[in-house]
Amino acid sequence: MGQSASIASHQAVKTGALASRDSSIIIVGGGGTMGSSTALHLARRGYTNVRILDVYENPSLNSAGNDLNKIAGADAVGLFGGASDDAWVAWTTDPVFMPYAHSPGKLELTSIGSAGAKHLREKYDKLISLGRSDIAWLANEDDIRQRAPHLAQADIKGWCGLYCSTGGWVAARDALNSVGYELRRLGVKTAFGTAGTFKELILSDDGKRCIGVKCIDGTEWNADLVVLAAGAWSPVLVDLKGQCTSKCWVYAHIQLTPEEADAMRGIPTMYNDTYGFFMEPHPTLNLLKLCNEFPGYTNLQKVQPFGSPKPITISVPRSHAANPSDTIPTESLDDIKRLVSKCLPHLAGRPLINQAMCWCTDTDDGQWVVCEDPRWKGLVLATGDSGHTFKMLPVVGGQVADLIEGKLSEERRQLWRWRPGVGDPLGTGRGGPPPKDLSQVPGWRHDS
Ligand SMILES: Cc1cc2nc3c(=O)[nH]c(=O)nc-3n(C[C@H](O)[C@H](O)[C@H](O)COP(=O)(O)OP(=O)(O)OC[C@H]3O[C@@H](n4cnc5c(N)ncnc54)[C@H](O)[C@@H]3O)c2cc1C
Repeated sequence: MGQSASIASHQAVKTGALASRDSSIIIVGGGGTMGSSTALHLARRGYTNVRILDVYENPSLNSAGNDLNKIAGADAVGLFGGASDDAWVAWTTDPVFMPYAHSPGKLELTSIGSAGAKHLREKYDKLISLGRSDIAWLANEDDIRQRAPHLAQADIKGWCGLYCSTGGWVAARDALNSVGYELRRLGVKTAFGTAGTFKELILSDDGKRCIGVKCIDGTEWNADLVVLAAGAWSPVLVDLKGQCTSKCWVYAHIQLTPEEADAMRGIPTMYNDTYGFFMEPHPTLNLLKLCNEFPGYTNLQKVQPFGSPKPITISVPRSHAANPSDTIPTESLDDIKRLVSKCLPHLAGRPLINQAMCWCTDTDDGQWVVCEDPRWKGLVLATGDSGHTFKMLPVVGGQVADLIEGKLSEERRQLWRWRPGVGDPLGTGRGGPPPKDLSQVPGWRHDS
C-alpha cells in the first residue's frame, strides 16, 4: 500500500471513477454494517486490494448491527432513493444472507386517526398500486388479531395498520458474521484492535488529498482511497460539520422457557410507532428482544474530530462493549415494561435482561451521506444510517461501490451528497421532539 503503488493505480482510474480494481482501498468501520457491505461488494466486483479496519473483528462488538435480530422485509419500497427495493430479494437469494432471513410477516401498527395512520395508509395505497398482493390493511383490533393470534390478550383497542406477509426479521449478528467470513474467503485484508482503530487521516503534502489512515498504535495505512463507514463514530472521527447526530436506542431481553418460545414461533414482527417492537424469539437461545420507540438519546461531549480547527460539543457514542456495566435509562425500561404489559401481558413482570444501548447516527433528512468528501479527494463518506440501515446490509455497499465506480445515478448522488446546513426541507427525517441527553436521564450508569 505504498505511495508508488498509489500513483501507478491512479493512472488506470476510469473517468468519473474514484479508484480502479487494483487500487488500495481502506474501509474504516469494516467490521460494521455499511463498511462490511462495502468491502463485500468491492471484493465481488474484483477489487483485489481492500483492507477493512475496525476496533473489533467482524461482527464488530461496537456495531449497531451486532444484535440478535432486526426488522427487515419487502415492504420498505422507495427508501434510500429506492435502494431498498432490492434488499429483501438479496436477503432471500444471496447465499451469504439467505440463512439469516426470516419471513413470518410484518405488522406496522399505529393509532386510528393519528398522523402515523395517514402515513401507513399512504404506504398501503402505494404498495397496492404496485400490484402487491402480500399486503393487507388492518382497520381495527379484530383485523390485527386475525393476523397475529399471539396478540389475543393484548390491549390494542384503537389500533390499525399494515400487514405484509413477505419479510419479518433478520438474524443480525449472524448475518454480519457471515459477511465477515465471506470477506476472508474473498481475500479482503483486515486490521483490528489498536492497529485498526482510526486516529486521524493522513493527507498529501498540499493537504488536498487523503492518502491513508493513522491508527491509535501509530500504524500508518497508506491507500489510494479511504472509506469512512464508522457508523455513530463517524462524526467523532472526522468533522462532518453537523450533518450527522449520533444517538442511542435501547433494548432488553426476556428469557423465555422452551415452551413459551415455541408458542411464539412464526409470529409476525410487531412494530407500533408509540410502544415499540418485538419479533420471533431467537431460535435456539429462546431470547425475546424488546425495543421501545422514542427519539433516541445523545451523549454530548467536547471532542476535536479530524478536520475541526477546535474542540466542539457533539454527541459521542458510549460503547457498550467498553462499558459493559451500562444498562438503560429507567424511563426506557418503563417503556419496555409498558410494551410487554400492553402486548404480551402473560410475560409482564418477567426480568428484563441483557439491557443495552446501541448507537446510530441520524442525518436531518434521514438519507445517507454517501459521497466523496469535498475537502479531501480520496476520502469517501459512507454513513448517516439514520437508525434503519441494517435491513440494507446486502445492498448498501453496492451503492458505495457504485459511487466509487462513478456509476451512482445523479438522483442518488444528489440525495446522499455532502450537505451541511441543508436540514430537512422535504420532511423525510425522523422529526418529532429533540432527543434527550443521557446526562438528563438516570438509571443506566453503574460504573461510578
Ligand atoms: C436498538 C436498535 C434497533 C435497531 N433496529 C433496526 C431494525 O429493526 N432494522 C434496521 O434496518 N435497522 C435497525 N437499527 C439500525 C441499524 O442497526 C443501523 O442503522 C446500522 O447497523 C448502522 O450501520 P453502520 O455501518 O452505519 O454502523 P455500525 O454497524 O455501527 O458500524 C460502525 C463500525 O465502525 C467501527 N468503528 C468505530 N470507531 C472506529 C474507529 N476509531 N476505528 C475503526 N472502526 C471504528 C465500529 O466498531 C463499527 O464496527 C437498529 C439500531 C438500534 C440501536
